[in-house]
Amino acid sequence: VPDSPDAVLGGLDPEQREVATALHGPVCVLAGAGTGKTRAITHRIAYGVLAGILPPASVLAVTFTNRAAGEMRGRLRQLGAAGVQARTFHSAALRQLQFFWPRAVGGELPRLLERKVQLVAEAAARCRLRLDRNELRDVTGEIEWSKVTQTVPEDYPAAVAASPREAPRDPAETSRVYALYEQLKRERSVIDFEDVLLLTVGVLQDRPDIAETVRGQYQHFVVDEYQDVSPLQQRLLELWLGGRDSLCVVGDASQTIYSFTGATPDHLLNFRVRHPEATVVKLVRDYRSTPQVVHLANGLLSQARGRAAEHRLELVSQRDPGPHPAYAEYADEPAEAEGTAQRIRALLDAGVPASGIAVLYRINAQSEVYEQALADAGVPYQLRGAERFFERPEVREAGVALRGAARAGGNDSLLDDAVDLPSQVRAVLATKGWTPEPPAGSGAARDRWESLAALVRLAGDFAAARPEASLAELVAELDERANAQHAPTVEGVTLASLHAAKGLEWDAVFLVGLTEGVMPITYAKSEEQIEEERRLLYVGVTRARRHLVLSWALARSPGSRGGRRPSRFLDGLRSGSGSGSAAARPRGGSGGIERGRGGARARGPRSPVRCRVCGRTLTDPGELKLMRCEDCPSDLDEVLYERLREWRAEQARLLG
Ligand code: ATP
Ligand code: MG
Repeated sequence: VPDSPDAVLGGLDPEQREVATALHGPVCVLAGAGTGKTRAITHRIAYGVLAGILPPASVLAVTFTNRAAGEMRGRLRQLGAAGVQARTFHSAALRQLQFFWPRAVGGELPRLLERKVQLVAEAAARCRLRLDRNELRDVTGEIEWSKVTQTVPEDYPAAVAASPREAPRDPAETSRVYALYEQLKRERSVIDFEDVLLLTVGVLQDRPDIAETVRGQYQHFVVDEYQDVSPLQQRLLELWLGGRDSLCVVGDASQTIYSFTGATPDHLLNFRVRHPEATVVKLVRDYRSTPQVVHLANGLLSQARGRAAEHRLELVSQRDPGPHPAYAEYADEPAEAEGTAQRIRALLDAGVPASGIAVLYRINAQSEVYEQALADAGVPYQLRGAERFFERPEVREAGVALRGAARAGGNDSLLDDAVDLPSQVRAVLATKGWTPEPPAGSGAARDRWESLAALVRLAGDFAAARPEASLAELVAELDERANAQHAPTVEGVTLASLHAAKGLEWDAVFLVGLTEGVMPITYAKSEEQIEEERRLLYVGVTRARRHLVLSWALARSPGSRGGRRPSRFLDGLRSGSGSGSAAARPRGGSGGIERGRGGARARGPRSPVRCRVCGRTLTDPGELKLMRCEDCPSDLDEVLYERLREWRAEQARLLG
């Protein structure tokens, strides 16, 4: 822990230091990926706290995901600045809403609507519309879109006509169902995901006394990933600030990937216009990636068009050279997944930890074939965006069992043979079917085993630090960690969508499925949408510290007709880059492209299919087809799934 404010500045370069020490007035940091924006703002908060200028409880740091918030809180603790609130917009809004709801409206905050599609069906029925399952999902998707873009029911037909999207149904009809849906929600006293921000903004706007209370608590605001702030979030931020100017925002216009929710980099790019007195700092040194990865990222950006591209910043790598990014072409998707799994094996054998490896894809539906291939290759993996550690059913169940055993104390014959804490934990977990050896086979069983193995490791670490500690003390420690969302690291390769990978980094990154139709995705038609897809790929490329593999498959399955083409975004990149393998032995090939074999192999048992929204294992044939629970919301866009997962986890945590 740094012993003085100045010690906090130690690990920063001169520009980052400028950010960290600019504690008065508005500050804006414009910088590319990996330049240390998140690091700079984290150190800024710590510096301000240690210098006695920013009281910890008066700071609200807003990050894009709960995971990023957790990481920031952990980092702040290490820097001696515990007690600072780091949250997502949703989580901060939900807490405030819960707090002032009794005063603003009376009674308890309405509960979250769980069966949204069902309520939409009721609304449709009241409009005398008989909609089948798919039609209902379409309407639900339209309602979600309307709300994130702040479109009220009466305005929906005009709004959808003006948007680049195509309305899946008669807009007038959708508008009627939407209006009734809102009415039914009020009648039943429930709120949906989108209501959390809408209601918070509403209360802060209408009730100056409540706005004063909130402003009394939070006086200093820091916002990471500001390029993706939606108009609604921007409004909330302004209400929190209430005309004050202690605001520090950081962002990278080239990483704008949430435009479809109305997010726009304009708030970032026009910051100087709104705040002429602002300190504006640019960072260009890239501390994350090797020159090879940075070269590719710069090449990708040099082809970008549009407003964000006018503000691109060329990155300069600060790291030693590494391997060239590799391009790999496969005959079909299973072959691509198998090839990827083999490369991952080679990396693991070469000593790269599994937690330093990620497979990133455009849509969550792509994960299944990778889950299968990694399970076949015996590689542990975790799905990013699936439930968080302490919310996993097996971890909750283990917690209950451990608590029970701790309460029984010495009276539990189960623990008779156990000398130390880790073996007590193992004995309790054994009653839940846990074995010291990982199970062979399917991904889900392996997932569960990994969670429990992480608990055993945690017990081991705890016992090593406090040899006299009892099981009851370990249980207390687990509760504390659960509250702080301080999860143990679960060893495993990360499988995540590009949207969920935002802000994170890994030693080795596999960008898979880079074909036309997937990247860019089919529904990206306008130039703006195509540019957003390009930025998404840029986000993916810049997650890699050292190894980077870009791959694609020419057909979906071994039997199917081919005809898939590599992504247009690769065109300008492949020619300019050297050949060679980033991750494993090169398999030969030409022009820097390695060609994997076709995959007409016998497949093992399939890994379970999970709901793309909540992560639950699916068994119902109808749900399997949709790859989503019947009750989970329709696919407005993959991105919303990430948000909904976040939201559900948050809801579960806060509302118990
Ligand atoms: P992104 O745009 O992807 O969110 P970022 O600009 O927020 O990236 P960080 O995540 O803060 O970048 O930093 C990228 C990596 O570089 C991290 O591993 C961080 O610890 C490291 N880093 C940043 N600044 C420095 C520095 N001055 N010295 C050494 N390492 C640094
Ligand atoms: Mg960052």
